[in-house]
Amino acid sequence: MKQYICIGRRVFVWFFLVAGSAWGQPVSTPGTGLPQALFRLREMDLHLHAGLERRTDLESWIHTMVADGRRVILLLDHLELYRKTPQELMEWNKKNQFPGVYPTGKEGRNALMQDFQEASDRRRDVILFRGWEVYEGELDTGLEPEPMDMAEVIGWHVSPRNGQKAPDGKDLIRRVKQIKATQNRFPVPMIVFHPFSMRLENLTRTAIHAGCDPKTLTVEECRFFQAGEQEELVRLLAGASIYIEMSLDHDKYWDHPAMQQAMMADIKPLAERGVQFTIATDHHSPASAAKSFHPERYCLPCGVDEANTNTIVRELLALRAKKSL
Ligand SMILES: [Zn+2]
Repeated sequence: MKQYICIGRRVFVWFFLVAGSAWGQPVSTPGTGLPQALFRLREMDLHLHAGLERRTDLESWIHTMVADGRRVILLLDHLELYRKTPQELMEWNKKNQFPGVYPTGKEGRNALMQDFQEASDRRRDVILFRGWEVYEGELDTGLEPEPMDMAEVIGWHVSPRNGQKAPDGKDLIRRVKQIKATQNRFPVPMIVFHPFSMRLENLTRTAIHAGCDPKTLTVEECRFFQAGEQEELVRLLAGASIYIEMSLDHDKYWDHPAMQQAMMADIKPLAERGVQFTIATDHHSPASAAKSFHPERYCLPCGVDEANTNTIVRELLALRAKKSL
């Protein structure tokens, strides 16, 4: 009898050790012991639009960002914009008063990537990477391999789906599984762009549309994840080259007490268990670039710091170094 109690106790202890290592203990990122080797949060912008919506020349646009403190930038554009017909592009440029810096189609995409490459070769004051922002729906409908092969990074645009069900944990888990499968064909780091803030945007607009004050939204309504979903996401992302974006949009919702509480409850457990993030402005225009950029305000309380946001930079630099051999 005593023997059985002893075995039972051992199984009990073993269960807690295993369960603890899987979900209980915070994980620290390896190789983050030297602060000098890390970029500060506001030195990084892994999502800067610098293509068809650009209102100035690329050099001045980059210069504005560098002057505001950026040292690492991912330059990109929405891939689907290059699928417009010449007529559609002309009308779109006219409507939005864009100078029309690139033609549409393959010619435009190649010219954009060439400009990104030349800027990267020329500048010594900032590290520039190039990529595309691809609409998440293309994970369902099919991808366009040729332009994606030119990218060092692919960012997946999570839509706010305004007027429909707001994005949530279930959607994110489904997308991360699809993104992982995509990396068999496109072996580059990938970022899930702004999942959390898109939910908050949807909820805010829905409330206003219904004549309600968004201030009445509760923490429960704002929460992105349901029970068990964070654990599943942590398991899926462990060791993967998939990052979750903390965009400047978080700043917009940070002073809403329920939203702030929801963001911390959604993001901090991920950060503590090894999920890696990216810092981004998602600036499209000089007007948006005029907003103050202090990611530490909304990142640090969510557990997102230098240690879990520099991994992508190191990975990209390693990939470049390896390619140059
Ligand atoms: Zn964007």
